Formats: sequence, C-alpha cells, structure tokens
Amino acid sequence: MYFDEQSVVFFNGEFIKATDAKMNTYSQSLHYGNGVFEGIRSYKTKNGAKIFKSYEHYKRLKYGIDVMGLQFNYSEEELTEITYKLLELNKLEDAYIRPLVYAGANMGLTTSLETNVVIQCWNWAKLMGDKLLRVKTSKFQRPNPNSCFVEAKVTGHYVNSILSTNEVKSQGYDEALLLDMNGNVAECSGANIFMEKDGKLYTPPRGHIMAGITRATVIDLCREEGIPVEEKHFTLDELKTADACFFTGTAAEVVGLESIDEYQFPMDWKTTHGHNLIKLYKAEVLGERVHEKAL
Ligand code: PMP
Repeated sequence: MYFDEQSVVFFNGEFIKATDAKMNTYSQSLHYGNGVFEGIRSYKTKNGAKIFKSYEHYKRLKYGIDVMGLQFNYSEEELTEITYKLLELNKLEDAYIRPLVYAGANMGLTTSLETNVVIQCWNWAKLMGDKLLRVKTSKFQRPNPNSCFVEAKVTGHYVNSILSTNEVKSQGYDEALLLDMNGNVAECSGANIFMEKDGKLYTPPRGHIMAGITRATVIDLCREEGIPVEEKHFTLDELKTADACFFTGTAAEVVGLESIDEYQFPMDWKTTHGHNLIKLYKAEVLGERVHEKAL
C-alpha cells in the first residue's frame, strides 16, 4: 500500500530504495516514542506538483525536534527541496508525504545523540467527497499539556489517538472526538474541530490541541471571505446544540460530520460554512484561489 520495489525514500542524506532502508531495532523512538514526524500533502496542479505549506510543516517538525532534544541541521528550505526531488523520483504529484526524525540506539531515558531522518511519500488521490462522518466521543482525553508538548508531532503522543480510534471504530463509528482535561471539546484523533452555530464558526483555542496547519488555513479563509469565526472553548453539551460541524486536517482536508454520539447535526450540510470551505480549501491548495488582496 505505501511502497513497492520501485519506491524511493530519502534516508539520512541519500535517496535509496524503500526496500533497502534499514532501521536499528534498539532505536529509542521504537521503544519509547521519541520521534517527530509530519503529515504533508502535495497536489497535482496546473503548474505541476505543489506541496501545500511545506515551510509551515517543516517548521513544526523542527519545533518538535527541538523540544525533544534531537540533533538536526536541515533547514525548512532544504527539506522542501529534498521533498520536491523525492516526489519527482517517485513520479508522484497527488501524494501524502511523511517525514520522520527518529533517535538512534539508546535504552536510556535521555535523548539519543544519534538522529535519523527519513522522508517517505505515497500516492494519495483522495477525492474531496461529501461523505459525512459519524463521530463518537472517546473515553480517552487529550493529554494534559503539562505532561508533554501537545503542539509537537511526537510519535509517542499518537498512542492516545490510536486508543481513541480503536475504541470508537470497534463500536461502528468513523472517528473519535476527544475532550481536554477540563471537559472542553478538544479535537479529533488526527484533526481539528469547528462547529457552526447561528451562522458563526467556533473552534477551540490553542493550548490542549495540535495547532493544525489546516485549522490555521481555514481561519484565514474565513477572515478573507467574511465568514465569522472565533477561537473559544466549548463543551460537549454546547456542541450538541450546534447547527453543523466539521473536522480539518492535512489528510482529512475539510470534512463534515453527520452526528456526534446520539446527536444529529440539523443543518443541511450543503448550506453550511463547512461545505463552502471545502471548495475554498480545494482552490487554496491548488493555487487557484483569487485572493481579494490581489484584486
Ligand atoms: N490534531 C491532531 C492530533 C493531528 O494529529 C493533526 C494532524 N497533524 C491535526 C490535528 C491537524 O493538523 P494539520 O492540519 O496540521 O494536519
């Protein structure tokens, strides 16, 4: 699914076959989750492959590397250049890109001195569809921000996402919603949340959530398009009085919700801000949006 005999990865400074990449089984990242990764999309556009917000993704990667104390010298620009080359070598345009920075052999609990970098990519031809998600609130909460750096995409943090997704998928739902430690709505296992109420959008502020790059893009789109949006905490009970709701994320893009737990969002999805934002986001990632400022 992710690679075949022809696939090429960037591995510690070289482009090699995915099937030739070897990992040390004593890696601290494998044992304790001290690795940092990104999830990036590239799109086939009229002007060839375009990586969406590459700089922002690599900046977030470098933030995670920094807080975890890993050694790393690549700049955002170098990483972007490497990634374009990688796409070319794999003959991919519509792709998902997965950089991963992981530690070398170390069974101790201070960060390993050796750092490895791998960038992998694979075909991602997701059509931006209109299938609405049935979502269930998980019994697992997002981690306490005093227990880790919640805005760093650290591999070990994703145990929380796996637990919540396993929990709700085993009950027949599509995705898990997680609350924060204070009982406020936080985010989905791998995406941010917006709710629409009386014509206005609300999304939880930063603090207990991943600072999603899609979330920031959507907020910018709203500001440019005159869609009212506010960053504000809300509870699950408040969410269950909303007119509509959607998730945002690099992989999910903008995707609407049908329901949360037993509550069905009442508004016709096609008339919501979320539905409109699907089109705006698509135009933005393809570089086809006419910016008001440019007019
Ligand atoms: N929340 C979590 C927990 C995530 O893993 C992601 C994916 N990085 C997001 C939100 C959405 O972030 P982005 O829009 O940058 O993909």
